[in-house]
Amino acid sequence: MIREGLDGLVCDLDGVVYRGSDPIPGSVGALARLAAEGLRIVFATNNSESTVDQYLAKLGGLGIEVEEQQIVTSGVVLAEVLAQRGVAGQKALVVGGEGMVEALEGLGVSILRDPSSTKADLVVVGLDVSFDYQMLTRASIAVREGATLLASNADASYPVSGALWPGSGSILAAIEVASGRTAEVMGKPHRPMMEAVAKRLDGASRIAIVGDRPDTDLAGGVAMGWATILVLSGVTSPEEVSGLIPPPDLVLGSLAELVDA
Ligand SMILES: [Mg+2]
Repeated sequence: MIREGLDGLVCDLDGVVYRGSDPIPGSVGALARLAAEGLRIVFATNNSESTVDQYLAKLGGLGIEVEEQQIVTSGVVLAEVLAQRGVAGQKALVVGGEGMVEALEGLGVSILRDPSSTKADLVVVGLDVSFDYQMLTRASIAVREGATLLASNADASYPVSGALWPGSGSILAAIEVASGRTAEVMGKPHRPMMEAVAKRLDGASRIAIVGDRPDTDLAGGVAMGWATILVLSGVTSPEEVSGLIPPPDLVLGSLAELVDA
């Protein structure tokens, strides 16, 4: 009985609660039941495209009542880490969307927009659909000249209408190879996001993480000593389960099954 004594749940979003804009059948009701039974839930996503407010609106639209503190994105973690370091006044070259630019500007970082300049203190990488050779060149030169390389997440791909599209990890890999340096990555399974989530569950005595990706969700849980629950409603197929090392503590068809697990 995995739920025995469980008082904290870290829940991935895409592939667990919804796929794109469609809720995964049973997930909304299951979250309401688990919360009503006293489980503290934090939603953790490596996606840094949307803001916390946008997630609040999206989850609210599905009928899931959540508070701001319950949502942790890799963009939120990036902002928390940079705020702790005191980056006001620094210059950043951003490979990412407007959300990332806004978050950095909110910390007093100035964004390097001149395409001929590579004089940056930080190179910050997320998903950027307009990423091209010129940006790869600027980012790798900036890093070689001493800029700190940071990334919101290193997910190789993400699912779009039945296909896998290159994720920010694919862009990051190009910059790492070109610059000869390895980035500090914020998202699951890396330490910054795992610790940001643990902080929000402070005081919980037994925590489980539920996700659809072994290399991010489950690996992050293992690193924290949490119970791991794999759901097959996302990117992992039933055929892949037997090859997973270490094996998840529990494998479910979907989140709905956790209510009775
Ligand atoms: Mg997922």
